[in-house]
Amino acid sequence: GLPVLAVIGRPNVGKSTLVNRVLGRREAVVQDVPGVTRDRVSYPAEWAGRDFTLVDTGGWEVDAAGLDASVAHQAEVAISMADAVMFVVDAVVGPTATDEEVVRLLRRSGKPVVLVANKVDSQMQEADASALWSLGLGEPWAVSALHGRGSGDVLDQAMRIL
Ligand code: GDP
Ligand code: MG
Repeated sequence: GLPVLAVIGRPNVGKSTLVNRVLGRREAVVQDVPGVTRDRVSYPAEWAGRDFTLVDTGGWEVDAAGLDASVAHQAEVAISMADAVMFVVDAVVGPTATDEEVVRLLRRSGKPVVLVANKVDSQMQEADASALWSLGLGEPWAVSALHGRGSGDVLDQAMRIL
């Protein structure tokens, strides 16, 4: 089948907004409240002439184990089914303990990953993106999924690793 690119990250970092950018339409559900996307939703996608399956993740219902465990579990499932991963971090918030946990899962998986430093809406916030070098996943790609800033470049990079 087609190669699978999974978009993972904490609730509210902008995963579904980024997915909509790729699809060129508002199909993935964007919400201010986390938990609206079903666990995983697959979309047929195309970028730079490549056909692939794009997987949006979410549905991070806070269960008895708590949000961190829920995010980690969802990330693990999505990583296992993916050929490559877009890991989305909120650059304005900066890296959280949950993000660090996802980094550990990504390392263990050995899957190729592109680090999306999202919510970099302006040049002034580029420094927020640079701070994400600390995650040890290589270059943080400064993106505003909302406005489209940098989104083409990061998708080109995703196609290189997919
Ligand atoms: P998800 O839970 O990771 O799928 O996040 P969503 O795509 O649903 O977005 C959560 C919230 O963040 C929404 O209010 C979006 O409009 C907002 N958001 C997403 N991307 C950006 C961005 O690049 N900049 C800003 N300022 N807000 C964003
Ligand atoms: Mg979502």
